[in-house]
Parts: sequence; C-alpha cells; structure tokens
Amino acid sequence: MLARKYGLWALVVALIAVAVLPLPDFWITQLNYIGLYSLTCLGLVLLTGVAGLTSFGQAAFVGIGAYSTAWLTLNAGLSPWVTLFIGLAITAVSALIVGGITLRMSGHYLPLATIAWGLSLYYLMGNIDALGKYDGLLGIQGLSLFGWDLGQGRGFYALTWFTVVLAALAVLHLLDSRAGRAMRSLRTGTLMAEAMGVPTLHYKITIFLIAALLASLSGWLLAHFQRTVNPSSFGLKMGIEYLFMTVVGGVSHVWGAITGALLTKLLEDQLQVLLPQWIGTSGSYETIVFGIVLVLMLKYLPDGLWSFVEKRLPSPQRTVDWERAAALPERTKPAHGDLVLDVQTIRKVFGGLVAVNDISFQIKAGQIVGLIGPNGAGKSTTFNLITGVLSLTSGDVVFRGQKIGGLRSREIAARGISRTFQHVKMIADMTVLENVALGAHLRGAKGVLAAMTRLNRTEEQQLFREAQRQLERIGMGAYLHEQAGNLAMGPQRLMEIARALCSDPALLLLDEPAAGLRHQEKAALAGVLRQLRSEGMSILLVEHDMDLVMDVCDHLVVMEFGTFLTQGTPEFIQQSPEVRAAYLGTEH
Ligand code: ADP
Ligand code: MG
Repeated sequence: MLARKYGLWALVVALIAVAVLPLPDFWITQLNYIGLYSLTCLGLVLLTGVAGLTSFGQAAFVGIGAYSTAWLTLNAGLSPWVTLFIGLAITAVSALIVGGITLRMSGHYLPLATIAWGLSLYYLMGNIDALGKYDGLLGIQGLSLFGWDLGQGRGFYALTWFTVVLAALAVLHLLDSRAGRAMRSLRTGTLMAEAMGVPTLHYKITIFLIAALLASLSGWLLAHFQRTVNPSSFGLKMGIEYLFMTVVGGVSHVWGAITGALLTKLLEDQLQVLLPQWIGTSGSYETIVFGIVLVLMLKYLPDGLWSFVEKRLPSPQRTVDWERAAALPERTKPAHGDLVLDVQTIRKVFGGLVAVNDISFQIKAGQIVGLIGPNGAGKSTTFNLITGVLSLTSGDVVFRGQKIGGLRSREIAARGISRTFQHVKMIADMTVLENVALGAHLRGAKGVLAAMTRLNRTEEQQLFREAQRQLERIGMGAYLHEQAGNLAMGPQRLMEIARALCSDPALLLLDEPAAGLRHQEKAALAGVLRQLRSEGMSILLVEHDMDLVMDVCDHLVVMEFGTFLTQGTPEFIQQSPEVRAAYLGTEH
C-alpha cells in the first residue's frame, strides 16, 4: 500500500523515453487520454481504496471542470489558466454540498447517491441552452504556456503527465502522514478512529473534495485537449468506467490508478479493432468483454493488477530518521490520589434490556481498578458509556472535575481518556508503528496541504518518535515495521495499548487485554500495568483472567446482569460469598 518511491522514478523515466522515442502521434494521443483518466482514477484510489467510499459520480466532477473552462473561455474571453481556478472553485463548492449530504449516509446509500448525482448532472448539462444541450460546446482554444502552443501532441503530453506525476506524488505523501493515517483508518469503520480523536466525517469530506478536484483538473485538461465538450463524456456510463479502471488497476494503490487507466484504454482500443474482425459485425462488443473481465478480476485478483506487480517487488527500506526529534508536549497529570473518574449512576437501556443499571464507582490517580463480572454483565457497555461510544440513558460521568457525559467519543479522547477494544481494532495493512502513531493524532496539527508538500516532516518525526517510545515501553520495540495484520493476538493487543498510550492519557481503559495471550505474555502485561501505575497512570481494567486481576488491581468493582454486586480490595472480593455465587458455573 505505502509509498514506493522507486516506482515513481521508473514511471518518470518511462514517460521521458516515450516522449523522446519516435512514437506515432496516435500513441501520444492515447497516452494523453490515459493521463487524463489517471488523474480521476487517482481520486478514486483515495475515495474508494483508502476510505472505502464508492463513487459512480466522478465523471460529473470531470464535467464541471470541463464545462466551466469551456463556457468561460468561449463566452467571457478568460484565459484557461484563470478558468482552471474558477472551475476548481465551482467543483469544490459542489463537492462540499454533495459530500456534506451524502457522506453521512452509510452502506449502499452513498453509491446510490453518487449515481443519482451523476445522472442528474448529465441531464442538466444536456438541457441547458447556454451549454449547447447534448451537442455540447465547440471551438474551445488549446493551451499555451509562455507563448508555447502545447497543441494536442507531445506538448500536451508533457503537461498532462507532469500533472499526473505531481498528483501521484502528492497523494503518496498524503497517505504517509498524520492526515493520511486518519484517512486510511476510515475503511474499517469509524469507531476506533473517533476513539483516537479523529474527526472522521471531516476526513471523509476532505477526501471527497480532493477526489473531485482531481477529476475537475482532468476535465479542464480534457476540454482544452479535445477542443470540444459534450455531456456523453461525463455521464453515468463514464462514471462507472472510471471506477472500473481503478478497480482493475488496483483501487488501494496509487500506481493502480495509472495501471488501470493504461490497461483499460489499451484493451479498449485493441478490442474495438479486433472484435468486429472476429465477430464479423460492428457494435460496442468491447463493453461486454469489459463486463466479463471485471467479473473475473473481482473473483481472481480483487486487489487489482498492481497488487500482482507489487508482490513481486522488493519491500521498501524503512528508515528511522526521528531519533533526534523533540519530544511531544505532555498534558499535566493529576496528582497521586486525586479523583480522576467519577461514574455517577450510569444507565444504558437497549430496547427492553437494562445492560447497565445505575452503576457508580470512582478511580483515583495511580490506581488500577478492575471491573469484573460474568459474560454479559455489562462491562464493555460501561466502557462504551464512559468513552462516549454509546450515549447514556441516564446518569453522568465526571472526569477530572468536568462532566463528560454526552460528549462525543473524540471529545472525550481529547480530554485524556484512551482505550483499547475487546475485539482488536487496527489497520491491518499499516505497520505497527503507523497504527500506534494514529493514537497520537490529537497531539499533531498538520493537515492535508502540509502533508502533500512535505512541510510536515518535523511533526511526523515527533509523532513517530512518540509511537516508537510507547512501543518500547511495553516491550514491542522489535515490531516497529511489521505489518499489523501479520501479528499474533498477543502483540496485537499490546499494540493497541501502545496506541492508547500515544494519546498521553490520564486514564487508560483496557477491555480484556489478556484475552488470547500466552502465559509469558500475560506476565509481561502484568509488569507493564504495574509500571504504568508506578508512573502515575490510572487504569480501568476489564479482564476475565482472575489471576491477573487479583495480581495487579488495587480495587475491584463487580457487576452481574448489568447491576452493581459489590466492590472492595481483591482480598475482600475473593472472600465474598456473593461473588463466588455469581461466578459459580460460569468462570471458576
Ligand atoms: P460484558 O462486556 O460484560 O460481557 P456487554 O456490556 O458486552 O457485557 O453486554 C451486556 C449486555 O448488553 C449483553 O446482554 C449484551 O447482549 C447487551 N448488549 C451489548 N451491546 C448491545 C447493543 N449494542 N445492542 C443491544 N444489546 C447490547
Ligand atoms: Mg465485554
């Protein structure tokens, strides 16, 4: 998935070679189209491959870019270099409106909404007199740069592919950044990302905007390349084709966009010539072949052709350049013994089920409090109420003197509560280090533009230094560059703890951290928890392993069927007949 820089150099060399070689003009024209398609597909890589948002409507944004410049250069006499920015601005406004409405929808509503958007824009373009209805606009001027007419051949080729390389580089840089990690976390759902303080809707809209702007840029180029625009280039069929190209090439790879555009265009050309010869009559048979190819691809190479190439390339060298980075500032921590968390008669009702029934307890700074009870007692639900993943039915939660009941999960994270999940939530195709750096999201500030232009390096180094420090703190220093998805369960859980620690929390919530761990790993975990406590950390621990709980906890709260059973020291709880009765036949 991640930046493979030498791929870029290979591409640049190939591009220059093509320009210099005595290739027929026909091929240069085809390569110009491929470059234009690549720009739109690059947006789809971000949108669909990275963020998991499927759009059939990208052609409509190409259309906005193309029609804006066509109409303005023809009717207002403006230079194309001015209308480029007007077109991008119009695209941005429409993308923000469309995205603002549709990106709140989940599942299949988003693709459906993009289809509706693609269709309506097509009919709009085809019915406006000023835009020439279905005939479109003709006689658009070509592009010239410093008096040099770029024409439709090699000059235009240079501009187009320069733009593609620049855009690919910007996207690669973006993906390898704080904002990019946040974006890459969107595909697996928003729960974990929000708990790490990531404003997920904001990032979805940003991605939608970037993809639309890339499409619009492609449209601007297209209008001045073809010298004519008409709605058929921007309809739903074309929207589907862009998605097709990207999926065939490799929807989660930057180079997949270019691979897809290249192969689709070449295949289309060949089929248009060959199929009528084979079949004996003419017609759009290539569409049928494309359909079959797509079905086969989805079955046998779901990650696209580029993934096939990438597997055969040597893996990139990972360099560590952050040893000297400055430490990130830390929040002031509560003094030992201060009241950190005050849970006040919280209740959660699911339909008829009272999952958490007026539970109250407190945690003081430097304390490890265990929340125990049989399966289904309401422990995880209690966690979700404290961290804002679920809304309270009644009751309140006070953290360091401030009410946090009713706040969003990411607002609670910002106040200094961090957590792990009963079922590990990670980005399997990111490295351990990147996963953990996501935990420090709120401690950075650099956004998309800084990432694209590499002006984020100092901050990135600080974030990685912190991520490495937290991994080493829990004994995971040997796994920095491992793919998270390749880890065994034990290291995955430790990685989640490191990620939570990366946010510099004052309270750590661990949901069954020892589940799936081997004996030595459990002993190591106990050591880590004691060490954290000695550093002043407060911890709320849900755990089924009673040896671990009795070993590390200072205080235990026992729940059963959502209700409070008893609380006290581990010794007291071990003696309690009620607790024994509750666990009898379930755990011990
Ligand atoms: P524990 O973590 O102690 O094993 P949970 O908090 O996961 O228990 O669940 C407590 C009860 O609430 C269970 O009966 C469970 O089925 C129910 N429950 C948990 N989450 C939901 C939900 N989102 N919707 C409906 N019921 C839920
Ligand atoms: Mg649970």
